Amino acid sequence: MKLIRFGPVGDERAGILDADGARRDTSAFGEDWDEEFFGSDGLSRLTQWLEEHHAALPRVADDVRWASCVARPSKIVCIGLNYRDHARETGGAIPVEPIIFAKSTSSLVGPFDDLWLPPGSTKTDWEVELAVVISRRTSLVAEADAMNYVAGYALHNDYSERAFQLEHHGQWFKGKSWDTFAPLGPWLATCDEIPDPHSLKLWLTVNGERMQDSSTAEMIYGVPFLVSYISQFMTLLPGDVISTGTPAGVGLGFKPPRYLVPGDVIELAIDGLGTSQQRAVAWEARPGA
Ligand code: ZN
Repeated sequence: MKLIRFGPVGDERAGILDADGARRDTSAFGEDWDEEFFGSDGLSRLTQWLEEHHAALPRVADDVRWASCVARPSKIVCIGLNYRDHARETGGAIPVEPIIFAKSTSSLVGPFDDLWLPPGSTKTDWEVELAVVISRRTSLVAEADAMNYVAGYALHNDYSERAFQLEHHGQWFKGKSWDTFAPLGPWLATCDEIPDPHSLKLWLTVNGERMQDSSTAEMIYGVPFLVSYISQFMTLLPGDVISTGTPAGVGLGFKPPRYLVPGDVIELAIDGLGTSQQRAVAWEARPGA
């Protein structure tokens, strides 16, 4: 099953994506794809409900905005330097334990929304990533049991302002959290659709030029290990998002580095998780500014 959300900012609704590509409005189900939904066995309840109601679901018009595929979670936990080639290009050592950092949940946006470059930004960068969505509350979960707590997967662009992240002292949180820095989707694919999350091609282009081109097979730490590892330090709640790190080819890794400017178009994809696209816009030029 593929879960989607749609509609204007602040008035998003829940839906599903059919195999033929049609978006269907599941408002009649009465729930959003959020902590309460996932935490109350919502995926099973929805599957059952659809058996009776699928045929009658209204179709979502093509021009309606795609929203983030899950509602704002309690946290977005990211993994740093989880691809060997990316660790090398940043000059960082291969981590002996996963590096984890947070991204603000207010950075979450739809997969085709504009990227708003922060005021004063000169070093905004891209990162195509496989995101994992948690299905049930867990802490201290064993690696062997961890997949029982995964609802599914989504495409994520972990945008980063490198000056904020690396030149302003302290944690990476500062450089990862601006509004629009976490386009998630177009859809959440449930685990049955992605039998092996460690063999997915992923890529990213800027203005059509291929920047990142890799496979999740290159990840240092896999999904069950990461879920288990993070749960040693915090309780994971239903709907929480874990972003599993990015392969080589980010702007920071070029010599000299290459960063985004207004007008740039960023496109990215992962096997089975669709394609997303963002256009970089100066903060001052955003709609309503
Ligand atoms: Zn990242």
